[in-house]
Amino acid sequence: MASNTQNTSGPVLQRGTKEYEAAIRNFFNSEPTGRFPAEVHSVRSTLDVANAMERARDLGVPVGVKSGGHLPSKPSLIDNGILIELNNLNRGVEYDPASGVVSFGPAVRVHEAWKATDAVGRFFPFGHAPDVALGGFCLAGGQGFFMRGWGATITDWIIQLEIVVPSGKVVIASRTQNQDLFWAARGGGQAFFGVVTRLWSRTIPKKTLYGRSFVFNVGNNFDTLLNFAFDRNEQMPKSFTETAVCLLHPELFDAKSTDEPIPESSPLQLFIQLTAYADTLPEAKKLLAVWDDVPEMIKSLSVDTKPTAEITWNEFFQLQSFMNPKAPDQNWGIHSILNDPKVPRDKLLEAIKPALCDLPSRSSYGVIYMADTVDLDETDAVFSIPQKYYISTFSGWKNPELRAPIRAAMRQSYAKAFTVACGMYIADFDPSPDTTHPQTMPVWTDSAREKFMRIREKWDPQGIFPGYKAFIH
Ligand SMILES: Cc1cc2nc3c(=O)[nH]c(=O)nc-3n(C[C@H](O)[C@H](O)[C@H](O)COP(=O)(O)OP(=O)(O)OC[C@H]3O[C@@H](n4cnc5c(N)ncnc54)[C@H](O)[C@@H]3O)c2cc1C
Repeated sequence: MASNTQNTSGPVLQRGTKEYEAAIRNFFNSEPTGRFPAEVHSVRSTLDVANAMERARDLGVPVGVKSGGHLPSKPSLIDNGILIELNNLNRGVEYDPASGVVSFGPAVRVHEAWKATDAVGRFFPFGHAPDVALGGFCLAGGQGFFMRGWGATITDWIIQLEIVVPSGKVVIASRTQNQDLFWAARGGGQAFFGVVTRLWSRTIPKKTLYGRSFVFNVGNNFDTLLNFAFDRNEQMPKSFTETAVCLLHPELFDAKSTDEPIPESSPLQLFIQLTAYADTLPEAKKLLAVWDDVPEMIKSLSVDTKPTAEITWNEFFQLQSFMNPKAPDQNWGIHSILNDPKVPRDKLLEAIKPALCDLPSRSSYGVIYMADTVDLDETDAVFSIPQKYYISTFSGWKNPELRAPIRAAMRQSYAKAFTVACGMYIADFDPSPDTTHPQTMPVWTDSAREKFMRIREKWDPQGIFPGYKAFIH
């Protein structure tokens, strides 16, 4: 079903109004940017989107696009630009039983997508955090559930997009229509040059979610523990399974704590969270069976283990929300690399250790998401940097005075991690002047970048979508 093209105009919010203030504050990261759009167009139809672009052209200013506002550097907020806010556009999920395809608007959140597909007995791989919107998630590439066996959501699941292009026209992009636009949208992320107003995904019959976990005290055994996690992950069946490793201090789970320093006595802990998607518990146990073999030395570091058991989606999402709270005073920086698969493991471990272990605050944690997606087809999508391990640090703080030291700490610890990177996930690329990563960090291969820029020039010759500028070097 195509989108609403009627003139069901949403409001245009002007500076100085409380609605405008609320709109520009409604982001995951509360950190102020000092950037104030001239107007916020809270669109309800594709016509509204086209009108917002027309308005930007009349004013001679660029546009920013927001689906869920989870990208911490908030590139959608452009000083004196037009913010196209998609929160109320096509906010629902529709299922076609004949084709097994779902379609949804870009601001549909992960938890809404789960609820709607679950209700019709279907599933497709949305992201892990419940409040992330599918628009930004899919455009970046989409490290969705069980990616290691299925590939990225955008390349392997999304089959069609509805896009309002800079001319104001509403077009369909797929592998057979407007192929160049479809290619550039899938992994184009914040550099994309149109507004995606509806997405279509194939689905599979739903199964049940199972979890299994280990918690260890790290001490001097970072390498030993990570070698165990990497080895077992490699031995595990690739489909219907996934591995996430988190490094954190237990104070992260203290709901009352704020910005007090991490106590010196606090142990650094390593969580291994395994997930399987199966029809029965015995099937899930079989999928995760390689983790039954835990060497005695590793067992001696154990703090807690949980056997394979069914977990509800709400339990999974609650843990995510707890670790990534969205609160009026909560500031976030996300730093990450995608490791170069050619770098030997011992070198990799040495280089990423500071980024994952030297956590700058209580609400910070390191993550390795074992995406295991390396053979990408650059002819199919701009999404082209191998994603073996997504290595990232979520750094949180409340007191604004902590911003500078935390960013300095992350700059320092990631300087070493960047030496073993082949690039970074475009979702984490921070185009702002005080970014903590080199501005030249690749988010696509060089050839994909050149092709992207050519396609962009064709569709947006006036450059009303400025995100691409961060990737010209
Ligand atoms: C706590 C947390 C957990 C996360 N978990 C995952 C995960 O499991 N897997 C994963 O892959 N990523 C994950 N991410 C990264 C997340 O997918 C990206 O930050 C994504 O861009 C957020 O999408 P959004 O729509 O909410 O954000 P927004 O800030 O609204 O969008 C990000 C950018 O994408 C562009 N954009 C968004 N929507 C559109 C549109 N409809 N048309 C054109 N351009 C658009 C704009 O340039 C915008 O600035 C996570 C991020 C956070 C903060």
